[in-house]
Amino acid sequence: MSTPSLEIKSVTHRYGSRVALESVDITLQPGQFNALLGPNGAGKSTLFALLTRLFKLQQGEILFGGLSINREPRLFLSHMGVVFQQNTLDLDLTVLQNLEYHGALHGLSTREIRARAEQELEWLGLKDRSHDRVRALNGGHRRRVEIARSLLHRPSILLLDEASAGLDVASRQAINGAVRDLCAQRGLTVLWATHILEEVKTSDPTIILHKGKVLAQGIGQALCDDQNAQSIGELFEHLTGTTGQAA
Ligand code: ADP
Repeated sequence: MSTPSLEIKSVTHRYGSRVALESVDITLQPGQFNALLGPNGAGKSTLFALLTRLFKLQQGEILFGGLSINREPRLFLSHMGVVFQQNTLDLDLTVLQNLEYHGALHGLSTREIRARAEQELEWLGLKDRSHDRVRALNGGHRRRVEIARSLLHRPSILLLDEASAGLDVASRQAINGAVRDLCAQRGLTVLWATHILEEVKTSDPTIILHKGKVLAQGIGQALCDDQNAQSIGELFEHLTGTTGQAA
């Protein structure tokens, strides 16, 4: 059976009179690394807040394989793994304790959590840090712990909001590469939100969000060809009339 896709249909979100998202339509390509590229203020975090039900949907519809976020919220959310922009780990707990806490919230047994945590931490190169307090880890390693944690309940989709923000270039590339491997090796669908042009490849299904509107959606190279652009940066410039924010 093919993986269902996530569909965002005609979603509009307002903060008072300010429109943060306007008639946004996005369909993710299942099993792929989908890049959501937009500068600060584009509406990325608002979209994430809606996808995770931190905010109530004001207008439009969000579906995963036909499951409605409004009608079947628990089931919908059970398919989502999330890494937010801000750190959400407890710095005074160990890596494993953070994972145990999250796993318990998802109803997993201690045995399941331990087995899955070991697998994910090993893959992310952090197995020998399991009993260290998160406070002792550098920024790149903390992000890896958050990725490990987001995978514990075996989601179908992984949402990452500026997951590499604030990291040095090498750590950023490592995190981006690890998430790409997840798609290739496990067929996980990823939504990678970023304002950093270098994190998007022309082979990626790409959504360009600007001032709350989707300006383009498709494989990066096809979008570049349409706009006669030589790179994702040029594409962004042609569509928005502004240069993208580099790292
Ligand atoms: P991004 O994550 O792409 O930087 P946001 O979703 O944070 O974008 O913001 C989209 C727009 O909504 C911006 O104009 C921002 O100023 C506005 N905004 C975000 N949060 C709030 C809020 N709590 N109250 C009012 N305006 C907000």
